[in-house]
Amino acid sequence: MVKDKARGAAREHVVETDVAVLGAGLAGLVAARELQRAGLRTVVLEARERVGGRLLNHQLGDGKTIEMGGQWIGPTQDRVAALAKELGLATFPTHDRGDYLLERGRRINRYRGRAPRFGPALSADLAQLEARLNRLFDRVHPDAPWDTPGAERLDAQTLWSWTRGATFTRGAREFIELVSEGVFAAQPQDLSLLHFLFYVRAAGGLEMLESTTGGAQQDRVVGGSQMIAQRLADELGDAVILGAPARTISRDDSGVTILADGATVRANHVIVAVPLALAGRIAYEPALPPQRDGLTQRMPMGAVIKCQAIFDEPFWRAEGQTGQAASTRGPVRIVYDNSPPDGSPGVLLAFLEGGPARRLGAWAPEDRRAAVLDCLTRLFGPRAASPRDYVELDWQRERWSGGCYGGYLQPGGWTTYGPALRAPVGRIHWAGAETAERWCGYMDGAIRSAERAVGEVIGTENPRAAVAGGVQA
Ligand SMILES: Cc1cc2nc3c(=O)[nH]c(=O)nc-3n(C[C@H](O)[C@H](O)[C@H](O)COP(=O)(O)OP(=O)(O)OC[C@H]3O[C@@H](n4cnc5c(N)ncnc54)[C@H](O)[C@@H]3O)c2cc1C
Repeated sequence: MVKDKARGAAREHVVETDVAVLGAGLAGLVAARELQRAGLRTVVLEARERVGGRLLNHQLGDGKTIEMGGQWIGPTQDRVAALAKELGLATFPTHDRGDYLLERGRRINRYRGRAPRFGPALSADLAQLEARLNRLFDRVHPDAPWDTPGAERLDAQTLWSWTRGATFTRGAREFIELVSEGVFAAQPQDLSLLHFLFYVRAAGGLEMLESTTGGAQQDRVVGGSQMIAQRLADELGDAVILGAPARTISRDDSGVTILADGATVRANHVIVAVPLALAGRIAYEPALPPQRDGLTQRMPMGAVIKCQAIFDEPFWRAEGQTGQAASTRGPVRIVYDNSPPDGSPGVLLAFLEGGPARRLGAWAPEDRRAAVLDCLTRLFGPRAASPRDYVELDWQRERWSGGCYGGYLQPGGWTTYGPALRAPVGRIHWAGAETAERWCGYMDGAIRSAERAVGEVIGTENPRAAVAGGVQA
């Protein structure tokens, strides 16, 4: 990795290469490694002074690590599981033994299984809601949501406007709010219904997304998920230039020129592996085609603050609890046991997502901490009030992420602009978790997107020559 010493000053690096990659998140790093393996010269320009993007480890001392960004690996996420293994990283199961908690209003239910026993009206409503959703999930084309039968009607409403017509109890609506905040870090009012259906389908269903054992929260990486990115970057060595945000991409018949802080790169192709909202802030010469430009304006990022309270031990385990909780009262909606593999120290991970993240993100840190600990104390009792340490990261304030967990499409986005999501613009190719057809928004999707973009580049007859086709510039 090269740290650029002259950011914003003279352009220290002037590089000619086969393929430039923008972004040293998982997608960019995997793309660069695949390109190098295919014999192509590659340079990665990364805006931050570190690699990993939405993956970020936090050291607790004594060699113990927790993650401030993406962390879990679930079943069917074969690409990320295989990559971690290939890089010599082990995984361990999320603690999932004992009871779960659900706080609704002033009541806290303690339960086992998928959900507590609800009254007959809510049970019936949830059952019919799930059946309706399953029928809709089955209809969606994950590789081309705009081709889904009835796509325009599904894309013309928000998840919330649909839910109001599809449910008859407040509890069922609260369930959709929990899912929307927990999965998208956005309110159901923000999301196109078609986007919600696509995203859940791309992950293999709601139960897969919600579950710990057997679902998306099943396993973690020993040493922290950012190690995946760090090991990839170690392999790439000097090909990764840090502190070099790309500002302009110019394209002509024979290649692309990228102007970044501290670097100028001339390449035959560029793979842009940054979230769409940030890709839209790069200047393009000539301008992007209207469909692609319009798409970047319709994919905002979610809002999440990841808060972690650290205790000498995971006291909830001794009390027969998983440490997992959900709350409709909030502002914390979802809690997990995020302790290191040996359970020491004990860590409770509390998410502020969507509306609560936007609201509490404007508060003073000490007030936000007090609100989070107040929730944890309601759920887990007085010992939760006094952690030995507390850390948080507000991803809304991360300039080179622009929010998290990821980008989502607003109503009309898929049907009007969707085909521009992956289509190359001349020699510009698009990667990143948001462009994945499977596990969109996840580490696994980021890797799949890189494989697809690399395939586009090396799939040409002569990868060092111009790429034919793509969206006409
Ligand atoms: C709190 C949180 C929890 C999550 N939980 C999970 C989870 O449990 N499991 C899971 O699978 N996923 C999870 N995710 C999502 C997962 O982290 C992402 O999907 C994945 O890391 C995205 O990788 P990427 O390479 O597509 O994008 P990024 O990681 O966003 O990488 C993009 C890179 O581009 C850089 N960049 C931006 N603009 C420029 C520019 N102009 N020039 C150069 N570089 C630029 C950025 O600095 C960044 O390094 C979570 C994310 C967050 C934030």
